[in-house]
Amino acid sequence: MSEMVRVLLLDASAFILGYEASEGDQKHYTVTSVLEEVRDDLQRIRLENAIKYGLIRVVSPTPESTARVKSIISELGESATLSRTDTELLALGLQLREEGHEPTVVTDDYSVQNVATRLGLSFKGLGTPGIKRVFEWVIYCPGCRRQFQESQPDGVCPICGTALKRRPGKKVDLNG
Ligand SMILES: [Zn+2]
Repeated sequence: MSEMVRVLLLDASAFILGYEASEGDQKHYTVTSVLEEVRDDLQRIRLENAIKYGLIRVVSPTPESTARVKSIISELGESATLSRTDTELLALGLQLREEGHEPTVVTDDYSVQNVATRLGLSFKGLGTPGIKRVFEWVIYCPGCRRQFQESQPDGVCPICGTALKRRPGKKVDLNG
């Protein structure tokens, strides 16, 4: 029997909202690009100290796990809403799970939660209630009414050039 090590993955909003990592049985991880998103001096100093004292580990995901997450993101139509940091964080989650950890993504971002659900990663929000269903966005053109499976370059309709919009499509209820 292998014992899963529980880890928490923190996105930029966690630090912006003042999440403080403390020494406990759960390890905290984040990705390098989060450092670029935390711009407030105080929040940044707090984050840098937490890293310095080993409370938070900064790891970059492998190109393989990043590529896998990117393809899921594009399948779900979330490409336009997720930042590089979000993608890297989810990829790190996938990777840590393969290494035998039990990762939970800490985020208030619904798109991140949506992709995490699809990847089978657990998540918890900081303040907002979590989503109970996973859905795929339908990308559509308000001009010519065509629908697209995936986001289009520059977010415009390749047929008529109108800016594309999206709405939640097929929903799948999660257990419970
Ligand atoms: Zn169109």
